[in-house]
Amino acid sequence: EILDVPIHDAVLGRAAEYGDRPALIDGVTGKEITYHQLDAMTRRMAAAFAELGVRHGDTIALYSPNTILYPVVFYGATRAGATVTTVNALYNAAELAKQLKDSGARFLVTVSVFLPVATEAVAGTSVEEVFVCDEAEGFRSVLELLGTKAPEPVVEIDPANDVAVLPYSSGTTGAAKGVMLTHRNIGTNIVQAEASINVAPGERIIAILPFFHIYGLTVLMNLPLRLGATVVVLPKFDLQQFLTVLQDHKINRAFVAPPIVLALAKHPAVDGVDLSELKYVTSAAAPLDGVLAEACAKRLGLHAVLQAYGMTELSPGTHAVPQDEVDPPAGAVGKLFPSTEMRLVDAEGNDTEVGEIWIRGPQVMKGYLGRPAETEATIDRDGWLHTGDIGRVDERGYLYVVDRLKELIKYHGYQVPPAELEAVLLTDDRIADAAVIGVADADGHELPKAFVVPMPGVTLTEHDVIAYVAERVAPYKKIRRVEFIEAVPKAASGKILRRELRAREASA
Ligand code: ATP
Ligand code: MG
Repeated sequence: EILDVPIHDAVLGRAAEYGDRPALIDGVTGKEITYHQLDAMTRRMAAAFAELGVRHGDTIALYSPNTILYPVVFYGATRAGATVTTVNALYNAAELAKQLKDSGARFLVTVSVFLPVATEAVAGTSVEEVFVCDEAEGFRSVLELLGTKAPEPVVEIDPANDVAVLPYSSGTTGAAKGVMLTHRNIGTNIVQAEASINVAPGERIIAILPFFHIYGLTVLMNLPLRLGATVVVLPKFDLQQFLTVLQDHKINRAFVAPPIVLALAKHPAVDGVDLSELKYVTSAAAPLDGVLAEACAKRLGLHAVLQAYGMTELSPGTHAVPQDEVDPPAGAVGKLFPSTEMRLVDAEGNDTEVGEIWIRGPQVMKGYLGRPAETEATIDRDGWLHTGDIGRVDERGYLYVVDRLKELIKYHGYQVPPAELEAVLLTDDRIADAAVIGVADADGHELPKAFVVPMPGVTLTEHDVIAYVAERVAPYKKIRRVEFIEAVPKAASGKILRRELRAREASA
């Protein structure tokens, strides 16, 4: 089950067979790249990079929203033997500079609207030149590079050791770390995911999640392009545009994060849209409760909202709900991928029913770049990666993620998972969105506090919220404080940014 070939061969090995079928369509402009073109463009891109002096083992930074050229630059770089460090498109200059320095990138590829940030960030880094995917005065364009007549470089890639991609973890719980993923890691993870996610050739998939995050890179780029699907690309999430593209491009499948499931389940704009071609919606990256998942599936007429689970350090997948499963349990994140082992472990390192999820398999990262101590703390001597997430498995073999170990609220000796309270809050029709964190009371005890966004036009009191949850959870899990806010802060990957809520609390 291990795929030991360079990632561009794993993905584009069948491009000739798919020929003139569209590989990528720009959802806004309608521009297309066929499989034949994609294959040829990535080869010319590699030749151009080689001509620029890129050598085996160099790093190229890609700081761009989703565009149809993203895969061209990505596989062009890997064909040249380079590592691609994908950069969060929402990063500011300081964050980008940090990643450029940490990764030691030689070139930066971006888009013209990001140039003010990019040019500020490259000062004092090892970046030698900045390229744009579109056009900008004073900068060379990727399109110009594609015109090269230079020969395609011959590079001997070692799939088990060469780092294909260096994404940075989301930085939800601490500093973002560079995660070294080899060609074998990410190539094998596509094949593992294919066992549950049976994308058919010609299927139309919407790329609404960012390619820079490993979830998007694997399930929106690598997997569909390997299988001959058509990827319809959108640069950013705008509900109305997303819905229009779903309808007009007759999209069959969407990979999303929980905030989009929330919108699909609750937003009035969904009512007027024809989503009859949409068959599968997969959600991952953050907790999604079964009630909300079912509400979304029912409203859209789907078989189910399928969940998947993973993390950057796992290339990223370890679990998905098989799409053909009859009656999949709502709320479960899936079944274990092939050639992957899992343990649930307690604080003493013993196997337990509800415990920390440990994973061993070919998708476990090579390590964190330049952080040997953190690598050692995450992957133990026996090769088990400690995820920091708590899980349990039901009698059918389905995994449920309880919450992150670090996020548990300690209420008078009890452990309260904020994700569970958020799920309960979202079942309330009067609530549009919610997030929960632990806050200190006057005596320094931790209490669950909810930040709540009411539905438009609804008046809600603190008491209403507390009472609604109190009727549905054990007494020790009750919400003790409520604050109404306009929007829950979320990362580009769909995760609640609890540290922003904590900062807001600290400054209150
Ligand atoms: P950092 O490690 O830098 O703090 P991060 O862990 O948020 O950031 P990612 O690798 O993007 O960075 O996210 C992986 C995490 O996302 C998992 O450890 C888990 O907590 C959460 N997650 C992923 N999929 C699911 C899911 N289906 N249900 C619940 N949580 C999920
Ligand atoms: Mg993490």
